[in-house]
Amino acid sequence: MTQIVDLSISAMAERLASGELTSIKITESYLGRIDQINAELNAYVNVFHEHARQMARASDERRVRGKILSRYDGIPIALKDNIAYKDQKLTCSSRILKDFHVPYHAHVSQLLLANGIFPLGKTNMDEFAMGSSTENSAFAVTRNPWDTSRVPGGSSGGSAAAVSAGLAPWALGSDTGGSIRLPASFCGVLGLKPTYGRVSRYGLVAYGSSLDQIGPMTQSVEDAAILLDLISGHDSRDSTSSEESYLSQEQGGIPEIDLRGLRVGLPKEYFPDLLDPEVAAILERHKRLLQEAGAQFVEVSLPHTDYAVPVYYLIATAEASSNLARYDGVRYGARDPRVSNILEVYTYSRHAGLGAEVKRRILLGTYVLSSGYYDAYYRKASRVRTLIRRDFQELFSKVDVVLAPVAPTPAFAIGEKTEDPLQMYLSDILTIAVNLAGLPALSVNGGFQGQGLPVGVQWIGNYFQEKRLLGVSRFIEANTEKRVPPARKG
Ligand code: GLN
Repeated sequence: MTQIVDLSISAMAERLASGELTSIKITESYLGRIDQINAELNAYVNVFHEHARQMARASDERRVRGKILSRYDGIPIALKDNIAYKDQKLTCSSRILKDFHVPYHAHVSQLLLANGIFPLGKTNMDEFAMGSSTENSAFAVTRNPWDTSRVPGGSSGGSAAAVSAGLAPWALGSDTGGSIRLPASFCGVLGLKPTYGRVSRYGLVAYGSSLDQIGPMTQSVEDAAILLDLISGHDSRDSTSSEESYLSQEQGGIPEIDLRGLRVGLPKEYFPDLLDPEVAAILERHKRLLQEAGAQFVEVSLPHTDYAVPVYYLIATAEASSNLARYDGVRYGARDPRVSNILEVYTYSRHAGLGAEVKRRILLGTYVLSSGYYDAYYRKASRVRTLIRRDFQELFSKVDVVLAPVAPTPAFAIGEKTEDPLQMYLSDILTIAVNLAGLPALSVNGGFQGQGLPVGVQWIGNYFQEKRLLGVSRFIEANTEKRVPPARKG
């Protein structure tokens, strides 16, 4: 018999509808796996045992009364710990928010609840989403379910590991410069960063507000389409959220994409010399299969790609320095008891509460915004950002969709890049331009390299083209061997 953790979201919904499964049964099964496996993986920083059970029982009662809120009523989820869920802790994996209980729901939490979907708990992340490996968590390093000596990617490493190891049926992450796609690639799950504005950021702890976006992390393309549909939509509390936000009329609809004549761009800058040959080979295999199915490949260029990393680290840090000013021991954050005056409240609280990488970003961001440097750094970076956006617009006049690697390498070893921030920043070299341009992109597992590590394939689309990205990903999915990570069998 198929185990609960191996069910797709639709199969789970069907079994709930037929009475073959109950929400409490599903929930207990995940809680049991979490209790068994999480101590090794550290995918969750906080598990809501009692709350999840209560929500599951309430869902089962609704079902008995014929009053379900949606097809998915009773299916639990994992939330990255920078997404607000009322009356529970919201830590961003930071010491400064270690005991902070958030008094309101994020918009996405409200939408999930309105459909009967509730959290099993909150997942680990790089502190304030700054990082690419989840090693910057103040609490624990999340381990990659495929090889526990390796990182899961970051910053949404906890959500990716949870879905990959069967500790949640699906999860939400956030992506400012690759934080959904990179861990999805490293953990072999589907990770979708929606068009900027597709999903409300209300209740997502702000890092780089002009870049941040919440998105699905799932076991399959179909599950991602369902989840994207559930969380997207206009919200008056996020002025950047779009009116044009619905994925489909019928939930989860993924269009059949006719591959014949589909114009696929391969940006030459996204196949750099430093690309791992095994990653390149996996991309090449899918290219060949797509070509055989009738897709046309066009070599294209995104000439300002070289500037994406520096521009991102100026803009994201500038926004972060302003967004994180509120964690000062007064408005938010733990206050150091040794203080004797207000200045000490700020300095001691921030000194003790924030980790090294977060401090580095705040310092850099404050510097690039300071008078005399603003024009040279921030303003210039904003201008180059416009050029990066134009590169993509020019490109999408020639092709329908872009195929690229997600990261130059598969999952790297824990500790391998922690001493060298620049090396860590370069993990995002193939994901961050998408955020600067506000475009949708996803990582779908494309296969396994020699040591059995999964390797994601990235699709990038024009604004609001998520349907097309999901449609073409189905082809990759259908042509990729299914495997489960060793940690999942635990
Ligand atoms: N690794 C990038 C950073 O550290 C992106 C993180 C993210 O997308 N949240 O900023």
